[in-house]
Amino acid sequence: MKKAASTGKTAAEAATEKTEPQKTGTPKTSPRKTSSRKAASQKPPAQKTSARKPPVRKAVPPRKAAVAPGKATAAVEGTPPARTVAPKPPRKESRTALVRRARRINRELAEVYPYAHPELDFENPFQLLVATVLSAQTTDLRVNQTTPALFAKYPTPEDLAAADPEEVEEILRPTGFFRAKTKSVMGLSRMLVEEFGGEVPNRLEDLVRLPGVGRKTAFVVLGNAFGRPGITVDTHFQRLVRRWKWTEETDPDKIEAAVGALFPKSEWTMLSHRVIFHGRRICHARKPACGACPIAPLCPAYGEGETDPEKAKKLLKYEKGGLPGQRLKPPQSYLDAGGRPAPPLGAG
Ligand code: SF4
Repeated sequence: MKKAASTGKTAAEAATEKTEPQKTGTPKTSPRKTSSRKAASQKPPAQKTSARKPPVRKAVPPRKAAVAPGKATAAVEGTPPARTVAPKPPRKESRTALVRRARRINRELAEVYPYAHPELDFENPFQLLVATVLSAQTTDLRVNQTTPALFAKYPTPEDLAAADPEEVEEILRPTGFFRAKTKSVMGLSRMLVEEFGGEVPNRLEDLVRLPGVGRKTAFVVLGNAFGRPGITVDTHFQRLVRRWKWTEETDPDKIEAAVGALFPKSEWTMLSHRVIFHGRRICHARKPACGACPIAPLCPAYGEGETDPEKAKKLLKYEKGGLPGQRLKPPQSYLDAGGRPAPPLGAG
């Protein structure tokens, strides 16, 4: 529909709204009340408004436009240089504008996190599958500190399937919910041995049949162990895409579909990493560091967190805050960018 050009229309509508009251105001009075009042009717409205204008104009909100996202568009369109400063999304954003803004955020994030990667340590699909199952209700750091002992003792699905559950529980204790997690990783190992020849399958429909494996885990494995595009809708992803108004959905499957429709498939996996990186480092759940956020001009939720640049800097985490990351063995690109490995269990 022609609404695709709504950004332009908004400006046009705004312009006509400004002129229409004047146009309709004069004809209405002049034809009906005719010549006897002509002299008076021509002047008073114009004089009254112009007489009242000075105080009114001072109260009109040019200042608000710099703050309120809904009015920012007009200001941006009127002054081209301001676009690079604060092109905030309009309140009623067209689909085309949303896609453009979403993709621009993705490009900005790619520059901020050129080293974005899965934050679980793994050396093969089996390790990634197990680590992702263990990451429920705990941090990737804690999983990374726990899995070296697990994989040293049970390096293959056959080994883990045949393990003593109590010994596995003891190893997994630091990850929380260790009894349920032991059941899941031993159960999935058994199924891998019995139904998939000891290999991790590379199809979504097979992966989600494994104990403890949902779509989120399956997409992590598909995207990072098999190079098949997938969107990982974790708690960070859900929070950020709603803040950015990419979707109003709350159900993870619907979020996945809605966000997937904004990007080409080839971007899905890296997009997921970048969004999750941003959620962990800058756009936190409780105190987003808006004042230190590189995509603030594109974010409708700017101001939800700390806007003072100095205070915001102090909220940054991991490599953005000069701190170690979550992986004990991060990729070289992360180390090259100044990132530091996480300490082993018990060391910090
Ligand atoms: S501006 Fe604030 S709310 Fe928006 S992405 Fe940045 S940190 Fe998050």
